[in-house]
Amino acid sequence: MVSTNEVLKTKEIADKALKRIESSDLAPTPQTYALWYQYYAESNFELGRAVDVILRKSKKLSEQDCAELYQKYINEGQSDEMILKAEATVAQIMEDVAKIITGAQTNTGSYGNELKKTNQSLGKVQNINDLKKVVTDMVATNKEVLAENQNLEQELSQSTKRMDDLKQEVEHARAEAKQDALTNLLNRKGFDVVMKESLAYAKKESRAMSLLLMDIDHFKKFNDTYGHQVGDQVLKLVGRTLIEGIKGKDTAARYGGEEFAVILPETNMTAAIAVANALRRAIANKELVNKNTGETLGRITISVGAAESVSTEKPEEIIERADKALYMAKQSGRDRVCVTPKPDVYSDSDQYTA
Ligand code: GH3
Ligand code: MG
Ligand code: MG
Repeated sequence: MVSTNEVLKTKEIADKALKRIESSDLAPTPQTYALWYQYYAESNFELGRAVDVILRKSKKLSEQDCAELYQKYINEGQSDEMILKAEATVAQIMEDVAKIITGAQTNTGSYGNELKKTNQSLGKVQNINDLKKVVTDMVATNKEVLAENQNLEQELSQSTKRMDDLKQEVEHARAEAKQDALTNLLNRKGFDVVMKESLAYAKKESRAMSLLLMDIDHFKKFNDTYGHQVGDQVLKLVGRTLIEGIKGKDTAARYGGEEFAVILPETNMTAAIAVANALRRAIANKELVNKNTGETLGRITISVGAAESVSTEKPEEIIERADKALYMAKQSGRDRVCVTPKPDVYSDSDQYTA
């Protein structure tokens, strides 16, 4: 249930967003509203930072700024749109190629007719002049066909090139849409895809599968003390440490801001806890140093929530259980791994620290 507090908070944020639009010369579009709402809700870290950078420079946002910010930080479907467009173009090229080929067949067909005619003419040849005429006609027809074929080859190779270029673009856009630009791990979208596949595999093969959700402890304080750029470096380091610490079919993703997820196919709870603790220790053991200044920044820790899948479970259900466990890890002191046991074995409220 949504608490009264949450409703009041939402209203407060909405009011701030509306006031901001009213006091500006920006058009009150849904996009502008979404932008300021997310800004005041502090729910989109990258957007917030980009808005602050512009405000620091030019005091207010222009229509152009809004459009660009919206496209870049809010309109997540952008890459999908690009993929759809590219796919439509591929379909168009295929149609073009089909037309070229049909055209070529017609040409070959008419060449066949010409040959037939030539054959008939040859039968009627009476003197050298007649023969000369037949041969001249044949050469002319051959030239035409040759030219047609060259055209055809050119058109086909152009189409093939366009198709190859597009295929690469689509593959690139597909990969980019699933990748987090800062850490190079999968982003939330990529995580969703792998999560779905892993659950389906676990179900089909009757294998165990576990999920770890992790959140950096007191990261806000770290950011406030050392600045966002240093914070970003730490996020990268956490990403790298996760990649180094997992193997085989395991997948690490940036789930959001300073939250990460690790999907562990063919892994039961006991093994998942071992992996979680190994990752937690690997991160806690990193001595953080600011590369630019040489300043020692201490260490960071993470809290981890783990859950093992149940065959009937949907992705959001196992995520919710891992999230509960993560909440418990935070509540019970951070820098630790907690789990929520499988709901078919224990009651849903059972939780324990590993
Ligand atoms: P807790 O131990 O309870 O998790 O505390 P916390 O401070 O880590 O949690 P909170 O959710 O209050 O703050 C998360 C902070 O993470 C807010 C923001 O400063 C930081 N953050 C989120 N995304 C990014 C990012 O992309 N870059 C940087 N540098 N910081 C980020
Ligand atoms: Mg968090
Ligand atoms: Mg945190």
